Amino acid sequence: MQNLSRAAHRSGRTITLVPTMGYLHEGHASLLREGRRRGDLLVLSIFVNPTQFGVGEDFEAYPRDLVRDRAVAESASVDVIFAPPAGEMYPASYQTYVDVERLTLPLCGANRPGHFRGVTTVVSKLFNIVQPDVALFGAKDYQQLAVIRRMVADLNMPVEVVGMPIVREDDGLALSSRNAYLSPEQRQAALCLSRSLRTAKGLYRAGERDVATLRDRVTAIIAAEPSTVADYIEFRNGDSLEEVGVADDRTLLALAVKIGTTRLIDNCLLGEE
Ligand code: AMP
Repeated sequence: MQNLSRAAHRSGRTITLVPTMGYLHEGHASLLREGRRRGDLLVLSIFVNPTQFGVGEDFEAYPRDLVRDRAVAESASVDVIFAPPAGEMYPASYQTYVDVERLTLPLCGANRPGHFRGVTTVVSKLFNIVQPDVALFGAKDYQQLAVIRRMVADLNMPVEVVGMPIVREDDGLALSSRNAYLSPEQRQAALCLSRSLRTAKGLYRAGERDVATLRDRVTAIIAAEPSTVADYIEFRNGDSLEEVGVADDRTLLALAVKIGTTRLIDNCLLGEE
């Protein structure tokens, strides 16, 4: 992969990378389409990264289907699929990690210790291997995008990070490979995430700025679904990820909710359309 990237750069071609864990859906496809537009060589990485899964999480169960992914990649005009075996990415001698400090403390960082250390480590490795000029990430994983932007700036990585909007089903459910875990009833219950985001945005648009009031409404919508347990419901500054008490356009509402054993995340900025 590195040789191929070097040759592309030598011949004056730019490289775009879309890092994924596979089991591709329309959210990934939107990143690939934008990636196709922004560079000459479009690289899709597919790697279910063991270091970003905690003990007892779904690393083994995570859905995988390379045959189907290959078809999606082909229809998105991907040039290269980079899907390394875990043993090559992390041989037994492996002992180096990249850690972003403050931004990784709240939200998913608090719920999933070590998760972002795994993410920033694998993304650093992918950047060194693929040597992209541009890398695309979805706002579905809002904190991840913020953490990667921080890492790239702090470590002077020569990569332009592009954030892409969340792709949703017609009924509002944010696309996720983990939606495959949901039964039809759970799939219905999972709509409480996007519904509560819409409600909060509506209240904000109508003039509500008190975070405690907004949080109560969101909490009630999620609690009304019997099979759900909220990991967190948080209102934070969309840039610093610090907690806020009074909402503004850049206030991030971030949710992590368990539907049965499936943990789903979703988010919005209150000021966005
Ligand atoms: P994953 O395979 O879940 O690690 O996701 C790979 C990339 O696709 C990440 O940058 C995600 O943020 C992005 N992504 C996943 N789901 C969506 C979605 N529904 N809309 C936009 N981007 C997404």
